[in-house]
Amino acid sequence: MDERLEKILVEKYPEFFIDHGGDMKDTCMAWGCSCGDGWFGLIDDACKLIKQTVEDARKRHQLLSHFNVKAAQIKEKWGSLTIYTDTSVCNIESVDIDSDTVKKMWELATPYQDRIAGYLSMAQVYSGRVCETCGNYGRIRGGGWFHCSCDLCHGLKESGCRDDLKMRSQLRVERILNYIEEEKRDNEEMF
Ligand SMILES: [Zn+2]
Repeated sequence: MDERLEKILVEKYPEFFIDHGGDMKDTCMAWGCSCGDGWFGLIDDACKLIKQTVEDARKRHQLLSHFNVKAAQIKEKWGSLTIYTDTSVCNIESVDIDSDTVKKMWELATPYQDRIAGYLSMAQVYSGRVCETCGNYGRIRGGGWFHCSCDLCHGLKESGCRDDLKMRSQLRVERILNYIEEEKRDNEEMF
């Protein structure tokens, strides 16, 4: 993914992307988001819903005040967006809490984990309709290597027009960056 887009995600969701750019011996997030720019919006929305869910859990349950879900791996797999996460219920400083309390924490966390799993499934299924390169409506195409493309990007790929494909992806990035700026301006004007 374009590093400017990735920077936006990391700045917007610092807790979710805490391992971003970490050591490759420790985390797959060392490689960042291993997918095309066309899926930026899907990842952004999934992160937004995960953040809301984590905050909701922390607010409702005193025991879940350290509950967190972080990205373990974000990649394209079989033509779809696949996001793996790691969940924790307590921080390292609270290692002395007893096992019954930890059990209770996981029980409380389960419905929130389920909710997040639902969001990630939705993002995965829907990514099969979103061109990974340009974000237009697409479909998963097989033939040895599965990938989700719109007709135009698929045609460019098939005919080896790498530069044109790159250009489409760059245009997509510019558009997203413009929209984000516009949204920021609109919000400033509104409040
Ligand atoms: Zn496309």
